[in-house]
Amino acid sequence: MKKCNNCDRLYETEGMNKISNKYYCEACYVHLENQKLELQALRNYIKYVFKYQPNKMINNQIEKYNKENGWSYKNIRLTLEYIVVIKEMEMQYKFGIGLVPYYYDDMINFHKERIRKSKEMEDAKKKSKHVTINKKRDNTHKFNKGRMVNIDDLEEDDE
Ligand SMILES: [Zn+2]
Repeated sequence: MKKCNNCDRLYETEGMNKISNKYYCEACYVHLENQKLELQALRNYIKYVFKYQPNKMINNQIEKYNKENGWSYKNIRLTLEYIVVIKEMEMQYKFGIGLVPYYYDDMINFHKERIRKSKEMEDAKKKSKHVTINKKRDNTHKFNKGRMVNIDDLEEDDE
């Protein structure tokens, strides 16, 4: 048995993964590997925006937003995309990614709204499908149709 270096729980050693001599359980390992990829994607995007590698100041900003604000690397990247693509703003290298805190909430709302709209379209599609089916065999499906609509209404897109 070994203790996972991330979640502190005990696991069978053979099922565990090693990163630089430290043991991690499967779930934590996948999470950490995913984090690594997300950080790489964020750094690539910063390089794409500024045409320079992230400098020391930008790296500090990334760590601050991630550790202090608790924002994922992915959400930091999505905020940058929101500023550049949706807001069409010009970012200046000397300020690094300092605009992120000002647009983080906007980005969250923007994506929530997008998810809500695509869900609405999905639901509309489902409902129109149900209508065609119901025309063929109306009575047997009435009960099911009512239930499906209820289930759809209960579903919430959690963040
Ligand atoms: Zn773990």
